[in-house]
Amino acid sequence: MSPLQSLPAIPPRADRQLHEQHKLGKRLRHQVGRAIADFGMIEDGDKVMVCLSGGKDSYTLLDVLLQLQKKAPVDFSITAVNLDQKQPGFPEHVLPDYLRGLGVDFHIIEQDTYSVVTRVIPEGKTMCSLCSRLRRGALYTYAEQHGFTKIALGHHRDDLVATFFLNLFFHAKLSGMPPKLLSDDGKHVVIRPLAYVREADIEAYAQAKGFPIIPCNLCGSQDNLQRKQVKRMLQAWEQESPGRIETIARALGDIRPSQLSDPKLFDFLALGTRDGSALPDAHAWLGGETHDRAT
Ligand code: SF4
Repeated sequence: MSPLQSLPAIPPRADRQLHEQHKLGKRLRHQVGRAIADFGMIEDGDKVMVCLSGGKDSYTLLDVLLQLQKKAPVDFSITAVNLDQKQPGFPEHVLPDYLRGLGVDFHIIEQDTYSVVTRVIPEGKTMCSLCSRLRRGALYTYAEQHGFTKIALGHHRDDLVATFFLNLFFHAKLSGMPPKLLSDDGKHVVIRPLAYVREADIEAYAQAKGFPIIPCNLCGSQDNLQRKQVKRMLQAWEQESPGRIETIARALGDIRPSQLSDPKLFDFLALGTRDGSALPDAHAWLGGETHDRAT
């Protein structure tokens, strides 16, 4: 046998592509399953409302959750919910056609938030922040009215990292977008099952699956400049040092309060005090007063 005959046959291109897609699907299911388990995102009997915008992220979320549901160790229901915000040119039939084809339970909320946003925001200014707030309000209200126990959103690993830097650079806070969250009014549990998934994988998955994507720029608005700036920074870092975003994402799950500087998270005052004696009043330090020592 010639040495070449002993080598494994190289699969034809289409087979290789199929093999890659299969691997990608498996990786996504694994990462989503791990996030669900790590954060206790879904319990037996949950009614999960999957917010579907028509973008690649939420299509991927719904698709992977439906696959996991079939083999899940718990029983839960899935309802896909979209908010038709009445932007001009929104192709109303796309999502219902797709969802009917899947045979999944779904609902389209119709609420003209577009008119509100265009009325309130001066021309030329970015509308996304108010638009997202109104969208969130409409979706949360629907979830409450219909007894959904979990609201699933399509934010992914790169969104979590970008939000962390937005808060760091522009709000001087070490805080991000958590994989599981109780809404401020305590009424909703929000879950982000794509928290471990790379955006690039979602892009590839959405393309392979041929999701009927509806662009989120029909209104002509732009992402805010700060978010754009952070995205550019992260992309440049990733190009320069591949794997850096993953390293940062891992760091978000490995926090050492004693190695930071927030006395609310770690009791620095009690650290290393001898014999438990009371510390002098902070005001004495601030005023530079001499500590009254016992002689
Ligand atoms: S691009 Fe338009 S529809 Fe999308 S979030 Fe911004 S304002 Fe809303």
